[in-house]
Amino acid sequence: MKPLRTPTALVAAGLAPPERLAALEQVAARYAVSLTPDVVDLIHSDDPVDPIARQFVPDPRELEARPEERADPIGDDAHSPVEGIVHRYPDRVLLKLVHICPVYCRFCFRRESVGPGHRRSLSRAALVRALDYIRARPEIWEVILTGGDPLVLSPRRLREVVRALVCIEHVKIVRVHTRVPVVAPARITAELIRAIKMPRNASTKATYVVLHANHPRELSVRARAACARIIDAGIPMLSQSVLSRGVNDDPDTLAALMRTLVENRIKPYYLHHGDLAPGTGHLRTTIPQGQALVRALHGRLSGLCQPTYVLDIPGGHGKSPIGPSYLERVPSAEQEARFEIEDFNGVSHIYPPVRQDDS
Ligand code: SF4
Repeated sequence: MKPLRTPTALVAAGLAPPERLAALEQVAARYAVSLTPDVVDLIHSDDPVDPIARQFVPDPRELEARPEERADPIGDDAHSPVEGIVHRYPDRVLLKLVHICPVYCRFCFRRESVGPGHRRSLSRAALVRALDYIRARPEIWEVILTGGDPLVLSPRRLREVVRALVCIEHVKIVRVHTRVPVVAPARITAELIRAIKMPRNASTKATYVVLHANHPRELSVRARAACARIIDAGIPMLSQSVLSRGVNDDPDTLAALMRTLVENRIKPYYLHHGDLAPGTGHLRTTIPQGQALVRALHGRLSGLCQPTYVLDIPGGHGKSPIGPSYLERVPSAEQEARFEIEDFNGVSHIYPPVRQDDS
């Protein structure tokens, strides 16, 4: 079975009602559509609010852009000194190798710059310039391969890039951001894993793979096996998830997602608040809703299962953790600052305690 890339194919597969076809054609003319066979397998097509379908099947509301939404919601362009590089934080850069993905998430923060309508990958000359940029800046400790999804590239192309990075003395970490182990697990072959792995004999250098997964059902048997191949080869895995309305905005789903990741040796890293990408308002939660969900996780789950809830500040100002906060300064006549701190049961305590018996 081939990926489903058109509204007609989605209707034929029973993933969209025929009466929506005309509206979905309009969405698809603007934003790329693709569902791999593995994703189609995960969808319960008899469920009109299926959380997997919601992430990948287009929705007519995507044409309703809100005034606060923007084409480049996290401000990549403002920090792109040469094509393919985003240099926002001092010690790391993004290296955007490709502009395509095996699937197109409906909430994608790069939806205006990914898809078949854009250039497929960085040209050889642009890659040379990007590597020269990294080579010339000793402060760059980490290179994040992203796109698009870098694991759509051939092992040969990935090996070339990783080998070039290995030869740059100051680059110690290669981080790969990908959805491939979940949406196209068969691509995770021994050859591809060898291609992205920093050789351990290259002093202290390491590859990390960060999996993008939003719902526990995405960790299918095939996806888990693909992640196990990566981890068994000695590459640690982390995860990032996007908080999305109707996908994972309830404590049970989020808890199941984080536990499933940890059970599969993947450490939850970031929970992203939905970015202000055009036409994604129907998928965004509010920040107070997100904070309440994170608070619910704190009380219930092991520390291993806690991602950091972050917001990418529009305009390219980077990510900041957005709570919830458990600590508040309280007025005190003494010299030492005093705080009120809330425990996981919602009970407040003064720190430092006023008397020995006040705990
Ligand atoms: S995999 Fe990442 S870059 Fe590709 S569509 Fe989804 S969110 Fe966007």
